[in-house]
Amino acid sequence: MRATRMIWMFVALAASLGSVNYIAAQKADATRNSERDRFAVNESETAGIHEVIPKKYERRYQEWKTEFLSTDIGRAQWDMYAKHPRLALTITISGSNSKGAGSGKYKWNDAGELVAATITLGSQIDRGFPSSVYYPVMNALEPFESTKLIGGSVLAATKLAHEFGHVMRISSTPQSLYNLQVQMVPAYNKIFLSNGHNVNDPQLVEMAKKMGGNPVEIWEDREYWGEANAMLFLKDRVEREKFHCRLFARIKQAVEEYAKDYEQRFAEIAKEQGAIYTCGWR
Ligand SMILES: [Zn+2]
Repeated sequence: MRATRMIWMFVALAASLGSVNYIAAQKADATRNSERDRFAVNESETAGIHEVIPKKYERRYQEWKTEFLSTDIGRAQWDMYAKHPRLALTITISGSNSKGAGSGKYKWNDAGELVAATITLGSQIDRGFPSSVYYPVMNALEPFESTKLIGGSVLAATKLAHEFGHVMRISSTPQSLYNLQVQMVPAYNKIFLSNGHNVNDPQLVEMAKKMGGNPVEIWEDREYWGEANAMLFLKDRVEREKFHCRLFARIKQAVEEYAKDYEQRFAEIAKEQGAIYTCGWR
C-alpha cells in the first residue's frame, strides 16, 4: 500500500489511536441489513462506524462507498473510524438536501475527546456541483462528469470524503472552542446586521478574536478542510487517469481565485506525491 505521509497526517489529525477494536465494517450482505441497522440504532454510542441506511438507498450507498474504498486514502480513513477506540461515527442518508451532505451531532467525553459524530448524505449526492467559491475541489469535477470521464459515484465519494474531512477536523478542535463558536456566531451576526455591516466594530473584533475568526472565516476554514480531504481522495482516485492534471489545474485556478489564504493547504496535498504529479502546483 502506498501510504503517503499525507494520509497519515490526516489520520493523525483525527485521533491519537490507542489499542483498537476491529469492526468488520464492510459487510454489504443485503440480507443482513435490517439486523445491522437495528444494531446501529441500539449501539449508536459504541465506537466504530454505524451505517444507518434506509433500504431504498442501500444500493446507491454501496456504490458510493465502494468508490470511496477503491482508494488507499479512502480505505485508510474508513479503517481508522471502523477501528476507532472512542468515536461512534454514524453515516446515514436523507432525502432532504438531496444533493448535499452534512456533519454534526458531535459529542465529547469528559476528557474533551470527540465520541460521536454523524455524517448525513443526501440521497442524490451523485449529482449537483457546489460553487467553486467555497468548494473548489467538488466543483472542479463538473466538466469531467459532463463529458463522462468520471461517473456520478466519484462525485458522491468525493462528497463523502469532504464530510470525513469535517469529522477529522472537529476531532482536533477543542470542545470549548466549538461550543463557543456555536454560541457566539448568532450573537456576532445580530450585531453585524445592526451596525451597518461593520466588521471593524470593536465589539465584533473582540468576539472574532475569542472564537478564532469571524463567522465567515470560521465557516470557510471548515469548508476548506472538507475540500482538502476531498482533494486527497481525488488525488488517489484519478492519479492514473489521463485528465488528472487538467482536474488539478481547475482546482488550482479556483483556489487561487477564491481561497488564496488557504492555498498552502491544497498545495501540500498536490505536492505530496512528488514532482511528477504536482501538475503545476509549486
Ligand atoms: Zn462541508
